[in-house]
Amino acid sequence: MTEPSRYCHRHEIDPTHENTATHGRYCTSCWARLDMPLTQAGEIAGHLVGNMVTSGTAGTDKVDTASDSAPLPFNQAAFDDVNHLYATLVYWSGHWGSILDQKPVRVLAGSWRDNNGTIVGLPVGVTAAQAAEAVGVAAHWLKIRLDAILATTHTSDIDAMGEQFRDIWRMNARWPRATQAAYSQVPCGQDDCGARLAVWPPAFPGDSRRVVCAAGHFYAEDDYEALVMKYAKEQKEKRQEQAKTDRIAQRLAKKYGIGAR
Ligand SMILES: [Zn+2]
Ligand SMILES: [Zn+2]
Repeated sequence: MTEPSRYCHRHEIDPTHENTATHGRYCTSCWARLDMPLTQAGEIAGHLVGNMVTSGTAGTDKVDTASDSAPLPFNQAAFDDVNHLYATLVYWSGHWGSILDQKPVRVLAGSWRDNNGTIVGLPVGVTAAQAAEAVGVAAHWLKIRLDAILATTHTSDIDAMGEQFRDIWRMNARWPRATQAAYSQVPCGQDDCGARLAVWPPAFPGDSRRVVCAAGHFYAEDDYEALVMKYAKEQKEKRQEQAKTDRIAQRLAKKYGIGAR
């Protein structure tokens, strides 16, 4: 008599999924779908922060400008993603820590918490290396316990976690680590150039971003930052000027009773 092969848990929901369980209740492919993002998380985090921070603090790029013409949406999005990534991993470490009766991962001092004390992000001002390490440690905590997690009966939690890990794939696709440029909303400021500026991500830890316009003007990190600040200031002044013109037009229209108000 042969022992019936034990199917992966997913077989219960999807009968065509006939893989044998190899990792707890799950098959190798279901395990890999969770294991791979955990392997990559640290590297993605370092990459995101490298794109985000130009001179030390996460606040640097928060240029004072209206949301409709923020010069660096690139940075805000990277900032949101890296915090989301960290919060997700810390959350699941806490969740499985209590189920497996183990200490959850140690959270970085100064981490960003909401009013309930839940971790929602990395401490302000972390370097790319620190972010990569913190996220990597949290991901590793989960990775080495993944088989134990997949052996529990908490299958709906496993599903929910898998669903959230899809965000890691999304980030992976959104922030390509191969050399690929993002385009700045700020036009080249050399003479009357005005060409698009390509922002190349740092190629290695400690490297800086490289900014080159389509016509070949090169910007050092500091010069690019100065250009962004100048652009933000000009945009703000332009909006103020426009608002002033609108107010004058409205006042005149009212005074002479012309046009729609
Ligand atoms: Zn499976
Ligand atoms: Zn140029």
